[in-house]
Amino acid sequence: MTSAAPDRHQDIRDAVRALCAQFPDTYFRRVDAAHGYPDAFVDALIGAGWLAAMIPEEFGGAGLGLGPASVVMEEINRCGGNAGAVHGQMYNMGTLLRHGSEAQKRRYLPAIAEGRLRIQSMAVTEPTTGTDTTKIKTTATRKGDRYVVNGQKVWISRVQHSDLMILLARTTPLADVRKRSEGMSIFIVDLRDAVGHGLTVRPIPNLVNHETNELFFDNLEIPAENLIGEEGRGFRYILDGLNAERTLIAAECIGDGYWFVERAVNYANERIVFDRPIGKNQGVQFPIAETYIEIEAANLMRFRACDLFDAGEPCGAEANMAKYLAAKASWEAANVCMQTHGGFGFANEYDIERKFRETRLYQVAPISTNLIFAYIAEHVLGLPRSF
Ligand SMILES: Cc1cc2nc3c(=O)[nH]c(=O)nc-3n(C[C@H](O)[C@H](O)[C@H](O)COP(=O)(O)OP(=O)(O)OC[C@H]3O[C@@H](n4cnc5c(N)ncnc54)[C@H](O)[C@@H]3O)c2cc1C
Repeated sequence: MTSAAPDRHQDIRDAVRALCAQFPDTYFRRVDAAHGYPDAFVDALIGAGWLAAMIPEEFGGAGLGLGPASVVMEEINRCGGNAGAVHGQMYNMGTLLRHGSEAQKRRYLPAIAEGRLRIQSMAVTEPTTGTDTTKIKTTATRKGDRYVVNGQKVWISRVQHSDLMILLARTTPLADVRKRSEGMSIFIVDLRDAVGHGLTVRPIPNLVNHETNELFFDNLEIPAENLIGEEGRGFRYILDGLNAERTLIAAECIGDGYWFVERAVNYANERIVFDRPIGKNQGVQFPIAETYIEIEAANLMRFRACDLFDAGEPCGAEANMAKYLAAKASWEAANVCMQTHGGFGFANEYDIERKFRETRLYQVAPISTNLIFAYIAEHVLGLPRSF
């Protein structure tokens, strides 16, 4: 399939595709059915250095920009896998890189690049506050050379497959800050020390085979040196990482979208009903063409966001729009692919129902569609704030 989007990373695409070829549909289907984690696949990705793509060379990574890194994520999904098992590492390390101390960077980044440490998790969402992040109730209170953490998080992904987690907690009560976005801080939590010693992890069975959890903090002690950046500025630091996160996930949706279109085209060409391929009917071919157009348009916005990010330019609008367009296009492609396959789309062995469930997530996480509309309305168009 050709694409109108600029593709300056064919070498990366080819290399990731070759790695993914070792993990065919049957592999991901088995993992999904067992509600398992794709350990062998993730080990192979880490072994080949792909999850260290954005770690600077001085810390042992490849020092690549967001554009090439997003191609890695896209290819995983385009080959039938799910980058949701690993994408956290791509953007969580950015928080450490941008805001961590020199000592923290030297301590963690080379080990992450070598694959000895995983930083797959970031804990922001809470059950009682949802998207209204500034009202989070989890607190971190300084006691001598430690912070003591109490509270609860929900939907925190990959905790059981990570060594480190970035945690957002309130260090100054909401009532005592000038602006509600102040008084929150971020920390590195070493999960190997924390679980069972103040941190309890309870898995949440969910629609898609995505390892995600409730976290309960009961006087969890973390060393004060694990504070990232300045106390009280954590919300700003989290926001700084969102453009990369949104653009990488847009790329995953683009990968899903092309996968669905390719499967739909193949099936529409092969399936004979009424003595002709179903793809001969415009009622079948037009929705596939329409969804392809939408994926292509989303892909252009994704590369625009990547280019701005890699040039160090503001890209909040483009990253949000790319995430919106790509998530919408991949979900529409999923529906079209399912419809094109008729009953067979529901059969596990076609992988469509699995990818259909997987791509649905991106309407909600890591940011729901309405919150993207709110961002564009308020920050791009200058409409009044709604919350
Ligand atoms: C599988 C999965 C994995 C996740 N992984 C992580 C993770 O690793 N770390 C993490 O911190 N979080 C994670 N999340 C949480 C995710 O980021 C949130 O679910 C998402 O941001 C939405 O928050 P919420 O579920 O609390 O919805 P709510 O905030 O309760 O919103 C519910 C609905 O109401 C809408 N809504 C709310 N307020 C407004 C408004 N003012 N105007 C218009 N519409 C509004 C929302 O758009 C949404 O559709 C994950 C979620 C899932 C499902």
